[in-house]
Amino acid sequence: MRLKDKVALITGGAQGIGYAIASLFAREGARIVLCDVVQELVQKSARDLEQKYQVAAAGLKMDVTQFSQCEEIVNQTLDKFQRIDILVNNAGITKDNLVMRMSEQEWDAVLAVNLKGSFNCTKAVVRPMMKQRSGRIINICSIVGLMGNAGQANYSASKGGLIAMTKSCAREFASREILVNAIAPGFIRTRMTEALSEEQKQKLASLIPLTRLGEAEDVAKAALFLASDDSSYITGHVLSVNGGMYM
Ligand code: NAP
Repeated sequence: MRLKDKVALITGGAQGIGYAIASLFAREGARIVLCDVVQELVQKSARDLEQKYQVAAAGLKMDVTQFSQCEEIVNQTLDKFQRIDILVNNAGITKDNLVMRMSEQEWDAVLAVNLKGSFNCTKAVVRPMMKQRSGRIINICSIVGLMGNAGQANYSASKGGLIAMTKSCAREFASREILVNAIAPGFIRTRMTEALSEEQKQKLASLIPLTRLGEAEDVAKAALFLASDDSSYITGHVLSVNGGMYM
């Protein structure tokens, strides 16, 4: 088991990529704290993990845009498990529109969750990680943060910002053995991409050298590598999981 008894906090973990990461971490022996905005869903997801993998798991309601809630969840995690080894900043939203039509609200909402939310959670975990003199922070960014995408100025800015924040935090925390890395997924089959028509998905697949959209598990495997001892000399890195779509 590659994460035996590690404690992992995963935001937006009730479903999609976050839940796939949580499942793989649990399979590798980690104790899991899932945070998400819908209480019933996040609690159910945590119960499912406990039953399937026989590990301790908690499902807690948290809005990453609220620093006080992030701090509270970190305190609850420390009360329950006495440590936090891994933070996965996964919570994310889209509100796509062309710049000419994009409202201030659409811009602010995406930046608040994707970028400020990651800052809030990072700020809340870094003190206990510094005391431990160890930790892993994995920021789920996006291919769009690297190459841009028409209709996603807000989303691409949030993910590009998160890539820059990853590198700054990697430099800032390195002396305490806290490693900070990013994953930039390409187009992954989750609820977020369900809105695309079959035709759009086929068009996308034709642009991907590996000829298919990714699965949440493809991202989870990269997260496991970055959370495990196998990546102990890697920090400030952006790992693309995109089937070769952007190199
Ligand atoms: P998803 O299925 O929509 O999961 C995201 C989760 O985050 C949802 O459960 C959502 O809750 C939750 N969330 C939203 N706002 C939140 C907040 N303020 N506080 C806490 N949780 C919040 O999406 P996904 O596809 O798994 O995406 C996960 C991450 O991967 C995101 O950061 C996304 O940008 C990134 N990503 C996805 C793709 C892709 O193709 N799917 C590609 C590149 C990057 P509700 O939905 O209930 O509000």
